[in-house]
Amino acid sequence: MERTYPKMTRRQLLQTTAASAFLMGTQNITGCSPLSRYQPSGSAKGKTLYIIHCDIVDVVHGVILHDRTIAVRNGYIEAMNDQIPSPREGDMILDLKNKFVIPGLIDAHCHATMPGESAFNPSGVLTTMHQLKRNYVQQLKQGVTSVRDMGAMPKMLHNFIAQIEKGELTGPRIVYCNSFTNVYRGHPSIDPADVSIFLSMGAALTGDMNLWFKDTKELAEKMRENSCQGASFVKLTMDKKSCLAGKSEIPVYADEHLNMIFDYAQKNNLATSGHVHTKFGFDRALQYGIGSMEHSIADAVLTEKEVSAMAKKKIAIVPTMIIGQMLAAPEAYDELPGKYRTDFIDREMRIRREYINSLLDDYTERSIHEHNVAYLKTYRKYGLDNLYQKGKYMANPEIYFNILLVGPGNLRAMKDHGVLIGCGTDAGVPLAYHGTLWREMEMLGRIGFTNAEVLQCATINNAKIIGMADKIGSVEVGKYADLTILQENPLKKIETCRKPQMVIKNGDIYDVGKIKLNA
Ligand SMILES: [Zn+2]
Repeated sequence: MERTYPKMTRRQLLQTTAASAFLMGTQNITGCSPLSRYQPSGSAKGKTLYIIHCDIVDVVHGVILHDRTIAVRNGYIEAMNDQIPSPREGDMILDLKNKFVIPGLIDAHCHATMPGESAFNPSGVLTTMHQLKRNYVQQLKQGVTSVRDMGAMPKMLHNFIAQIEKGELTGPRIVYCNSFTNVYRGHPSIDPADVSIFLSMGAALTGDMNLWFKDTKELAEKMRENSCQGASFVKLTMDKKSCLAGKSEIPVYADEHLNMIFDYAQKNNLATSGHVHTKFGFDRALQYGIGSMEHSIADAVLTEKEVSAMAKKKIAIVPTMIIGQMLAAPEAYDELPGKYRTDFIDREMRIRREYINSLLDDYTERSIHEHNVAYLKTYRKYGLDNLYQKGKYMANPEIYFNILLVGPGNLRAMKDHGVLIGCGTDAGVPLAYHGTLWREMEMLGRIGFTNAEVLQCATINNAKIIGMADKIGSVEVGKYADLTILQENPLKKIETCRKPQMVIKNGDIYDVGKIKLNA
């Protein structure tokens, strides 16, 4: 079928050219100002950094180690004790009296090459590009020193990773899978070419987010290609129901596909992880013993037997409950259906409203957020059932309201059965912004996790899920010096994680108050 594309104005075309150049690493073509290069305010390369008088949160045991000294050398924690050091010339001392040190936070589910925009906006290309850079800076500024990218435009992602490694861009370390390993037209079930000519042209430069295969031969080739570029896990999409409003079923893997994928992953030492919003996806993920389920399911209260099977198979979950809150859009309804009027949902909707209406400059370009909020009107303008057909790709709010109905109970059951639970934002999807891990952390608290458990989810549990527990996730000798410095004791007040005072990644100190986000 032939496709017709909307014509671009000359201005849009120029911006597209500028954006493409930007993607390839050239800057400042038409006044696209890059984020100013931010140098860490301190680094003791080759010397020792002594962090003294700090209260360390031992996330594994949920206790505070009072008045400690941490010695950092070559990016690693070399020693921890309660002695005052005798520094040599050139060593650095950082006095953190009355401050609390937690391990650098980890966002175990985000999309680093996605800007959190509801729809492609050709007149905002440069803003989008700027936001993509901001994604990384925002995460670090919020105390997140490692992220797991759950599906990216691979070339673009590698470009950003190279910039971070060279010190040209401030950002966390990134664990990634490159593209989604999805069957042709499977989740996220959006073809860039359907969205805009820019995105379809851009895919050549940025790499395709979809791996899309049609048969086992193509699957084998593409998996090899995809994982060769440094991937540490395979991202699967397990549901047969689309999460887009107005679209029902989507193609799913045949068993021969899944057999091949899991076999390949095992032989190549790759973890597996799958998007799961439905019981159908849950059952399949359980059957194949996936490494981690992503998100929560909307259509079932899990039985004791199912949850205990999950625990026995050591399947972890990164519930991203906050996406339930953000994508459960009351804007889609004239009046919210009675079944969604529970105390829990009422409170979440109030928090969502306050968040949406607040100044989110630390988390997104203002115009992107304003566009997202205005775009919510699209729900009622077209009606839920017509959106997909009209080319409006919006989340189906029913799925997310239902996640809010059954998700908390399922999650508490998993916790009781000892399932490893992580913490992630799904940042990059519409209205979910990078650097908002604290929102998921606080939501876990409202679901019934203690502050100590919340901290574990966002640090050591995430480190285990992303396969880096020997390097990150707790403040321990031999691990990377990834530390987030807080004003107050997070075991008593988890909200202190909203505003870290200072962030240390690999031994480099970032004075987060000085990091500028706007060009
Ligand atoms: Zn995701």
